[in-house]
Amino acid sequence: MTRGFYVTTPIYYINGNPHIGHAYTTIVADVLARAGRTRGDTFFLTGTDEHGQKVADAAAAAGVSPQEWCDRLVPKWQNLFGRFDVSYDDWIRTTQPRHTEKVQRVFERLRRSGDVYLGKYEGWYCANDETFWLQSKLIDGRCPNPECRREVQWLSEDDWFFRLSKYNGRLLEHFRTHPEWVRPRSAYNEMMSMLQEGLEDFSISRSNFAWGIPVPDGAGVIYVWFDALLNYITALGWSEDDERFARYWPASVQLIGKEIARFHTIIWPAVLWALGEQPPELVYAHGWITLDGQKIGKSLGNAADAFELVERFGSDAVRYFLLREGHFGSDFTYSEAKITQRYNDELGNDLGNLLRRVLAMLEKYRDGLVPQPGSSAMGERFADLPARVQMLTFNLQFRDALEAIWELVAALNREIDERKPWTLYREGRSSELDALLYDLCEGLRWLAVMLAPFMPGKSVQMWHQLGLEDGIGDDWQQSLQWGTLAAGTQTAPAQPLFPRIDA
Ligand SMILES: [Zn+2]
Repeated sequence: MTRGFYVTTPIYYINGNPHIGHAYTTIVADVLARAGRTRGDTFFLTGTDEHGQKVADAAAAAGVSPQEWCDRLVPKWQNLFGRFDVSYDDWIRTTQPRHTEKVQRVFERLRRSGDVYLGKYEGWYCANDETFWLQSKLIDGRCPNPECRREVQWLSEDDWFFRLSKYNGRLLEHFRTHPEWVRPRSAYNEMMSMLQEGLEDFSISRSNFAWGIPVPDGAGVIYVWFDALLNYITALGWSEDDERFARYWPASVQLIGKEIARFHTIIWPAVLWALGEQPPELVYAHGWITLDGQKIGKSLGNAADAFELVERFGSDAVRYFLLREGHFGSDFTYSEAKITQRYNDELGNDLGNLLRRVLAMLEKYRDGLVPQPGSSAMGERFADLPARVQMLTFNLQFRDALEAIWELVAALNREIDERKPWTLYREGRSSELDALLYDLCEGLRWLAVMLAPFMPGKSVQMWHQLGLEDGIGDDWQQSLQWGTLAAGTQTAPAQPLFPRIDA
């Protein structure tokens, strides 16, 4: 059976509204999924993490049941991702029976195999983070999480434990033999040093609150993180639909924020091994978007209003900015001024004006009809570009991929400036003008195809303005052959792609 390309985002904890940081991870996954679909079978999963104390607290504060709270919040999240043209194939909710039943099945199976056992949990507990902390990690007796710093309480309870320590050696071995499986390098190194310090068993049940998946034949609920991690396989029909599971698992790319790397690269593979499954091929821990040097997040109260951003700049421009501004994996700073600048310079001037100028000249000199091609020199010059863009994209070097695409944008602009179609027209050098206009149109068609994963809305607008109708770039191999654009194609009158925005 051919293996599909499986990309996931973390499932989002819905104790509040989504912010631009959530949209960022999801947009990145969407770019990968859209790129994946130009190559073959692809599955893109996102969803919501709906259990745990913070969800229960948020629901109580709103005066509704936790389930009602989740049912109310999920459409808001889906709506935001919809506004960013996110093309997920499945949205898993951890309160769905398709998930909860399988989580209980995992629990039972691991309890039978001895990987899950009953023990006593004692420690300093932060209810906000739902995390136990060692005495030595506390700061002034408070939670050490810099975004929390709340009071902690001493808890002692009988909990179920996952035998994580048993997998310490195998994890070290896996990290050593798969040095690229956790990226970027900073995340890999951090996890490696945790493994070298040694792992303790990991508590996977809670008896001090009720909003979670009940422990089968036992007291308490399953710890929200253990529950949540399993979504990546429950959504594929683990233990029920073996064919589908084998088609997509192990996942090709699991995207996460760097703050949750430990769960995804230490606990997650160990749980999978305990189940007899493989770890994901790649876990990528991306950086944070910062605003005035602080991580954007609800808890800091500086959540940039993601809806407002889409309203102001449009989905494509925000997607473009997020992928172009920083090297994926590193933190980068967001500001309205920066988006506005990239919008006006790169999208408005470089790309939008290029399309407008070409279509206007075509209208003026050739009644809007694509002329006959000349030599294939331009096509030969950029013959390796699609493969390069694809390689960079699947290597999660989105900024480099966009810069590579911009080489063609710059080359087409230069062709106009240097070869001056208006002079060719005036001097009656008709076949030269035809060849030049053809290259410009074909170059724009290529740009639309290559930009489609990044800017799905505007690339389709480009496609239509070029007079093309069918699916845009469904198959890169086929559509990115220079000379595919048919002479005689009737183009549409130019419409501004990115109307100027005043700073
Ligand atoms: Zn805390």
